[in-house]
Amino acid sequence: MKKNRDRLLKIFQKMYDHFGPLNWWPGDSPFEIMIGAILTQNTSWTNVERAIENLKRENLLDPYKLLSLPDERLRELIRPSGFFNVKTKRLKNFLNFFISEYEGNVEKMKKESLWLLRKKLLDVDGIGKETADSILLYALEKPIFVVDAYTKRIFGRHNIIPPTIDYDEIQKFFMKNLPEDVGLYNEYHAQIVLTGKTYCKKKPLCDNCPLKDV
Ligand code: SF4
Repeated sequence: MKKNRDRLLKIFQKMYDHFGPLNWWPGDSPFEIMIGAILTQNTSWTNVERAIENLKRENLLDPYKLLSLPDERLRELIRPSGFFNVKTKRLKNFLNFFISEYEGNVEKMKKESLWLLRKKLLDVDGIGKETADSILLYALEKPIFVVDAYTKRIFGRHNIIPPTIDYDEIQKFFMKNLPEDVGLYNEYHAQIVLTGKTYCKKKPLCDNCPLKDV
């Protein structure tokens, strides 16, 4: 256990020393982060930024305004984020949930306990584990570790986790071995994503990667 903890912290430090603090998640409010977490499914962040810019320009980053917006108009505005038909439905599903359960109020949502809220989010059609956990950690500052494909790839390539491990098991591994710390979980996931995008591609670029000695 201590060995795993030391390893994970060492890996974190190496990435952090290399990239510096990343201060995720970009967004001016928890609500904007929640919308961004849904829009970023299967697309790059640059595309999400363009979609969010459109919503901001129209002053629509508000749960009630967004929910009452006709689907056609919402589709137009979020078009840059790709898969705009399905994302329009997912956003509306989420907004219905957010308003019916918490009156569109982030503080009310925050009061819900972590695992109950996670279960409720996962019941919303179109919200998967990575999206739910991103909302919980980055928008609501709940102590949960976000897992993505880069996490599996990097830690699998270094034989820290087995190749067949699933999302929940990876999450449990990190949460069991790291101190429960929202700031650490926040920065750790961000560092993994940047390491994956920059170096741990399908064909890994190990020579310049901060984890080459691990
Ligand atoms: S690029 Fe190489 S050194 Fe870097 S995380 Fe991937 S496998 Fe490890």
